[in-house]
Amino acid sequence: MPAVIEVRHLHKRYGAEVAVDDVSFTVERGEIFGILGPNGAGKTTTVECVEGLRTADRGEIRVLGLDPLRDRAELTQRLGVQLQDGRLPDRLTVDEALGLYGSFYRKPADREVLMDVLGLAGRRRTPYARLSGGQKQRLSIALALIGSPEVAVLDELTTGLDPQARRDTWGLIQDVRSRGVTIVLVTHFMEEAERLCDRVAVIDRGRVVAVDSPAALTERVPDGQRIRFRPSVPFADGLLTGLPDVTGLTRQGDVVVVTGTGNALNAITSVLARNDILAEHLRVDQPSLEDAFVALTGEQSGAGARGPDAERTPDAGTARTPTADPGGARDPGARGTREADAADHV
Ligand code: ATP
Repeated sequence: MPAVIEVRHLHKRYGAEVAVDDVSFTVERGEIFGILGPNGAGKTTTVECVEGLRTADRGEIRVLGLDPLRDRAELTQRLGVQLQDGRLPDRLTVDEALGLYGSFYRKPADREVLMDVLGLAGRRRTPYARLSGGQKQRLSIALALIGSPEVAVLDELTTGLDPQARRDTWGLIQDVRSRGVTIVLVTHFMEEAERLCDRVAVIDRGRVVAVDSPAALTERVPDGQRIRFRPSVPFADGLLTGLPDVTGLTRQGDVVVVTGTGNALNAITSVLARNDILAEHLRVDQPSLEDAFVALTGEQSGAGARGPDAERTPDAGTARTPTADPGGARDPGARGTREADAADHV
């Protein structure tokens, strides 16, 4: 089956600024595909070219077999877009906005159902200006889905949402996907990418530095596993440092810290057991997607803008669906281990 989205050697500059240097990836039908990268990496420019809102300088793009520029009218019917910095007229109500956007499509979704699933039913008569940041965000998702799209591109899906609303939105996106919609998610939230995405493209300085599942990306982190314990009896470093998958060993007082990859933990615990050494207070830290991101890009997520924020000037005058709080909260910060990740959830 042909890929739903194919991007080959995309290149786009704004004046002297190269926003996208050389980006290639494919998205398969039914996937939730994440695009991750530091600020200014070229993510939004890439998806705007995919949506036909910007004209690439070089490269080839096909979405559902269509050329986003040449076949724009047809693609607009089949592609739902949530943009980073859209706005609606202040007085337009939620219901009116969905009615208006729905009228652009051949097969609009049932707006009552959309309002229900997005928790907007109680706000149907509220004008846009009086919606909270989270409600505007949810409306922007509803507008991206009102055309019953086959593919939805969601840029900063949950920015500005509180933790509960974020989790509810993840559930919604999983439901949308289970109905056969392919989803491209531009995100700064590592936890979001880890939970939702089947595969992730990490973009850095306008280039794709990795495309893989979140689990496979974390496995690539050098020295990713950290195994700490207090041995019941002393032993020589060589007992563990010679093991395959063990990459280092340090001692902090009487605590031993071993770094490794793959099956390091199994190998270490078997050798210790064979030598009648108990590993007391054993603790294992697995690498997170954040660690993989830092290893691949050298930056913490959400940090490190590459250039001054330029004023955005759309290449094409397409109706933009709004997202609230465009400059809103980013990833709350680096999380080094899955243990730390879990701690964030409680
Ligand atoms: P962020 O995570 O901050 O949204 P991004 O990865 O989406 O960033 P882009 O918005 O694609 O990155 O921007 C890539 C580069 O192109 C940045 O250096 C940005 O300043 C520049 N840029 C983006 N849009 C424009 C524009 N309309 N005119 C000039 N420069 C632009």
